[in-house]
Amino acid sequence: MNLDLGFPVNETLTRRVVDEIIALAPEGYFPGDDAAIRASSSARILSIIASQCGIPFLRRIRDFVDPVLLEIFDPALLNRGLFVPIARDRSRFYFAVVNPWDTTGEDAISSRFEDLEPVRVLVPYAEMIPLIESVSGTQGPSRNELESIEVDERSEEKLYFDINAEHEEPLARLVAKILSDAIRLRASDIHVKCGIGEVTYSYRIDGDMGMRYPIPMKLKNRIDAFLLNLMGLAPEERVKNPGISGRFGVNYLNRSIDIRFERHRTYRGYHVTMRLLDKAHFEAKLGVGSLAFDPATLFELERVMAIPSGIIVMSGPTGSGKSTTLNAMLRELNRPEDNILTLENPVEDEIPGVIHCDIRPNEFKAMIASFMRSDPDIILMGEVRDLDSAELAIEAAITGHKVLTTIHTPRASQIIERFEQIGIERWKIAQTLKAACAQRLIKLLCPVCKVLKPRLLERDVRKFNLDDSMRDVPVYARNPEGCHECQGRGYHGRAAILEIIPITARWSDELSKGTLSPYEMEREVRRDGRLPSLRDSGLALLREGRTDLEALSKSIDLTNSE
Ligand SMILES: [Zn+2]
Repeated sequence: MNLDLGFPVNETLTRRVVDEIIALAPEGYFPGDDAAIRASSSARILSIIASQCGIPFLRRIRDFVDPVLLEIFDPALLNRGLFVPIARDRSRFYFAVVNPWDTTGEDAISSRFEDLEPVRVLVPYAEMIPLIESVSGTQGPSRNELESIEVDERSEEKLYFDINAEHEEPLARLVAKILSDAIRLRASDIHVKCGIGEVTYSYRIDGDMGMRYPIPMKLKNRIDAFLLNLMGLAPEERVKNPGISGRFGVNYLNRSIDIRFERHRTYRGYHVTMRLLDKAHFEAKLGVGSLAFDPATLFELERVMAIPSGIIVMSGPTGSGKSTTLNAMLRELNRPEDNILTLENPVEDEIPGVIHCDIRPNEFKAMIASFMRSDPDIILMGEVRDLDSAELAIEAAITGHKVLTTIHTPRASQIIERFEQIGIERWKIAQTLKAACAQRLIKLLCPVCKVLKPRLLERDVRKFNLDDSMRDVPVYARNPEGCHECQGRGYHGRAAILEIIPITARWSDELSKGTLSPYEMEREVRRDGRLPSLRDSGLALLREGRTDLEALSKSIDLTNSE
């Protein structure tokens, strides 16, 4: 039995927790200990542990925490001991802990406030983290500290970088700040660029590039070398290679996050892109979070996944979340009896039980033969970008495999034409393509600061050919000032919307004979109006007040309403 609470719980205590859960349930309600644990929320388990340890359990503390006390302790210390001060009176100092056995908080408080009795409460990990985050990340090194760095190159082996550790070296603290701010702000990428007389870093959040922050020019080479060091590469590599790719990991509040590193030599120096491969993002599940599609879309997606063989293509521009959705589909399809292979460049997310192949463009043909010999049931191919990859998808589908892949086209129906451009005959793709999908990510309004507009502007209604009914719907718009919750951006998070065109036997036949064009097929789908479309799903988000017209019209072409 494992309670999996993020801190050690011995057998005696685990036994007591399970006994208490079972004792309170109706007779015979749980078939076994594991079922009792699975059916209990972590809050329920924590409250039992707290009562066994003789300390109170509080689910929510953020409204009671004294902000002045929160600033007293070094955030690195709060991170390490996972504790936060809550309040104090004349004789006691109240603080919250995540792990009842960790004494870091108690020691820190006793040594600082000798006359006060430290009093603990237990809180869930998820409650603690935002509080610690609210004070950490702002403590980067001062400009003076950065300027005083001795610029000499040393090589240190560091494949894993602990962001929360207390780094002595100001440069390490700067990198820790850049990385921890990125994670806290939920950025997908960090860019470090050299310009004329300046080095800057910036974040991409929800698809938008944000402000650029300066780094002193004299650290240009030092920070470059530091980052290469994180991957165990010597600084000389940057002279030898115009492009360097690599990976390193960071540890952030007990969570490990992989970072994919790309560095290109540029006229002014270099351009580094670091993509944050956060597990939370990859473990995205259909139906929840950013993939919380409406029931009609989910139903069509389930139907598509039930197709025994053929090609399922997801189209959309870069950054439209195509691979996140395909990976979520693959997770749903992942059954022990199926042999699943992926061909990716690079492999981003490893799914247990799935065989991932990291494939380089020049090895493509050579790998196909051996690949097919292992007889996979389902193949996920990162992208169809050339004749080799397109032929592989067709070949695999003809021989009875299910192929999931992505392609760069704006609309779902254009997938067929894109295959033709690459060099595949129309009939071949018409007979193997089973579903053409398109996806976009729509920025969502910050629920805290969004502003109510009484109605849409008449001009917008006409420009975007909106339905008459839209005239009477109250809509929301972004607050240009933003608020604390959205870091002044006015948007918070994104939702995926999907367009799905299942290629029926009749369409497949007509498309191969050439009696129906992909565009006519799309119009027929629209006239029928039963299948989810980007436009309808996007407008539904607008009607629900979850996005605004500006965000929507940037991601999908609303002017085209055919
Ligand atoms: Zn806001």
